[in-house]
Amino acid sequence: MHSKSILITGAGPVGTLLAIYMARRGYTVSVYEKREDPRKTLLDDGRSINLALSHRGIHALEKAGLEKIILEHAIPMKGRMVHDTKGQTNFQPYGDEGQYINSISRGGLNRSLIEHASKQKGIDFHFNQKCIGINLETKIAVFENHENGEETNVSYSILAGSDGAFSQIRKTLQEEKAFRISIEKLPQGYKELHLPAGQGNRHLLEKNALHIWPRAQFMLIALPNTDGSFTCTLFLPFEGEHSFASIQNKKQLHAFFENFFPDALSLIENIEEEYFDTEASFLSTVHTFPLIFDDSVFLIGDAAHAIVPFYGQGMNAGMEDVRILNELLDQWKDNWPKVLPEYQKARKLNVDAIAELSMRNFIEMRDLVADENFVLRKKIEAAIHKKYKDYLPLYSMVTFSDLPYSEALAKGKEHDRLMEEILALPDIKTDWESEKGWEKIEKILLKKGVWEGTVNRNNKQE
Ligand SMILES: Cc1cc2nc3c(=O)[nH]c(=O)nc-3n(C[C@H](O)[C@H](O)[C@H](O)COP(=O)(O)OP(=O)(O)OC[C@H]3O[C@@H](n4cnc5c(N)ncnc54)[C@H](O)[C@@H]3O)c2cc1C
Repeated sequence: MHSKSILITGAGPVGTLLAIYMARRGYTVSVYEKREDPRKTLLDDGRSINLALSHRGIHALEKAGLEKIILEHAIPMKGRMVHDTKGQTNFQPYGDEGQYINSISRGGLNRSLIEHASKQKGIDFHFNQKCIGINLETKIAVFENHENGEETNVSYSILAGSDGAFSQIRKTLQEEKAFRISIEKLPQGYKELHLPAGQGNRHLLEKNALHIWPRAQFMLIALPNTDGSFTCTLFLPFEGEHSFASIQNKKQLHAFFENFFPDALSLIENIEEEYFDTEASFLSTVHTFPLIFDDSVFLIGDAAHAIVPFYGQGMNAGMEDVRILNELLDQWKDNWPKVLPEYQKARKLNVDAIAELSMRNFIEMRDLVADENFVLRKKIEAAIHKKYKDYLPLYSMVTFSDLPYSEALAKGKEHDRLMEEILALPDIKTDWESEKGWEKIEKILLKKGVWEGTVNRNNKQE
């Protein structure tokens, strides 16, 4: 048993999962969270706000024996359902048969993790406690009780900053230790809208899909909830012709939805209230370096790398941080001075890569999913993957594998070059499925060399 303890600030999904992992290693864990205990409050203030949980998050949950409990309340989404301006739909599968991502209630997931953690020996939760500063020399963190304003000093030997995108721990490190932090805000923001269930909790859109209404500079998406409703998110520029600023009254709102999202408009109840009662939220990417201070403080999850949500990877990446940290603790036998630099080395490159991939996916989602060439590319890539299993489309590398994000990004760029050449073949649109068309594709695969090993190996197996 270790004599060491760990102080965790922030009981979001990443901080709570970290607490569970650390307690399983025999640490005494204190978790300080600024909000109220979510077990005492209604889930998401009575409304479901959801997110997509995929392989990396599930893998991290699995290592803590939690995946079954969490996935019990998830809805599989097998692909994108793309809605055009006439309300016509087109389904694009995410991966192979049987591969899917999971729509899950954000509040429900967090609450389940906290419930599980609080049953585990060695974890103490302190809610309504906001971290307002740290003394990095004396290793004391200061918390303020939200209810009575009382301040408490808590000493630590190891401090994890898992306090989200606006991290106080990160801010202190920036101010006192000159950490390099960049925060890039997108010109687009978002609002969440509720699409209610039909009679008998029936889903009014296809249940097992992530719905997208891509409209170039903006888009609407919808993820299913278990109660038959959907949570829609409208991503829109703050300023400009079609923007939050240009939709100021009910008439403008209706005209905008009628024009661009007519099928969604007919289903979203109380759209005026939904839209005008909430402020649009910002989206930003946070880059931080270093991720650690001495052998006593580290940043993890959104505190270390908040990203835009377009790959559905923010939480998945944060949970992966926890799994990788745990593997390093195994490898270095809990020798933190050795582990922390290794953690930084293992994560920095990869969290930067998922930040870049997430921005790329924004463009893919809002512009490309409705583009003919993009759809053709997806079909050809799926066919290549079917024959040559080692050729994993980028989306699959990111979403359905543990391949480091940086490697997925590099391979994705190779794929872009390869597919550019394939899509430039004359008549590819019409003859790619024919024997002749396929021969031309394979010629390029072989010529590129990158795929030679794969192609030859797979041919031999056939
Ligand atoms: C619109 C949107 C959609 C998203 N969709 C997805 C998706 O589909 N898939 C996915 O994987 N990710 C998604 N994400 C990202 C995901 O929500 C985050 O990556 C994830 O919540 C990060 O978890 P975390 O525990 O690091 O931080 P958080 O969830 O932000 O938790 C931080 C915790 O710290 C607490 N805290 C903050 N400051 C203090 C303080 N000073 N003292 C004490 N406690 C403090 C907070 O109250 C909070 O409980 C989405 C994000 C957005 C905005």
